[in-house]
Amino acid sequence: MKLLIAADECGALEEVELKTLNSLNRSFETEHHVFRFSANSPAEKEIAGIAAEQERVYSHLAGLFGFAIPSKIEYLLTASPEENGDALSELTGTAQGPMNGFCVGPNYVFAVYNREVKCLGHHEVTHLFSYRLCMPKSRFLSEGLAMYTDGSFWGKPNAAWVREFLENGSYISVIKLASDDVFFAFPSEKTYPISGAFTGFLVEKLGFDAFLHSVYTSDAPLFENLSRIFNCGEEEIEEQFKDHCKSAKQTAAAAPSSDARQFLCADEFSVTAEKSFRIF
Ligand SMILES: [Zn+2]
Repeated sequence: MKLLIAADECGALEEVELKTLNSLNRSFETEHHVFRFSANSPAEKEIAGIAAEQERVYSHLAGLFGFAIPSKIEYLLTASPEENGDALSELTGTAQGPMNGFCVGPNYVFAVYNREVKCLGHHEVTHLFSYRLCMPKSRFLSEGLAMYTDGSFWGKPNAAWVREFLENGSYISVIKLASDDVFFAFPSEKTYPISGAFTGFLVEKLGFDAFLHSVYTSDAPLFENLSRIFNCGEEEIEEQFKDHCKSAKQTAAAAPSSDARQFLCADEFSVTAEKSFRIF
């Protein structure tokens, strides 16, 4: 399968051919997506529901961000985390392990869809929207935004995870997590929900637009910037965040969300690539 993917920071596109994806020989088109999948796959059987879910997600995110993605999202529904990892290996020229989901600019989502893993929902599409604004220096910030729109992780709200980590002593300081060295040193099961809860805290304090324009797109180091915005020290901000998590709603919303359908979509966060495509 041939793809036109972002090859540099300026938006130049490069055509690449991924043989791994040749099995995706069926497609289904909607207003904002082209879904590709294999014949007789679980994705083919359930494509109407998948499409409806992702159109709902797209509408929500377009409203939240206040803009549309110019071209349709190519949603590539692969059979397994291994096949998804193979596609990324072929794309990067570097061996990659199994993974449930990742995306490549400007409009490609690689998502596993099988009986066990249904990588749908907000996370990867949020990356496609947010990276049209900028590529933040801190992965804590970019994953935090994607996890914020997910709302929860494995059925539990992000803030509830933080409260659990505080109670069992496994909480990791958000001040430290702002550094990629620390963020990558801990498992995503810890770092992702903490990042999402922290983004939720900032959005509650500032509003989504101010968060995007004053925090997400800022070049300043995260906590230096936040100390200036809140006019207080970073430790005080972290204490406020902990209090926010302790008092936040501790159960997932009853409305059907991506997570309520047990989408196990935690993307790979330590990709090393020989080629410089915009993978995130
Ligand atoms: Zn992500």
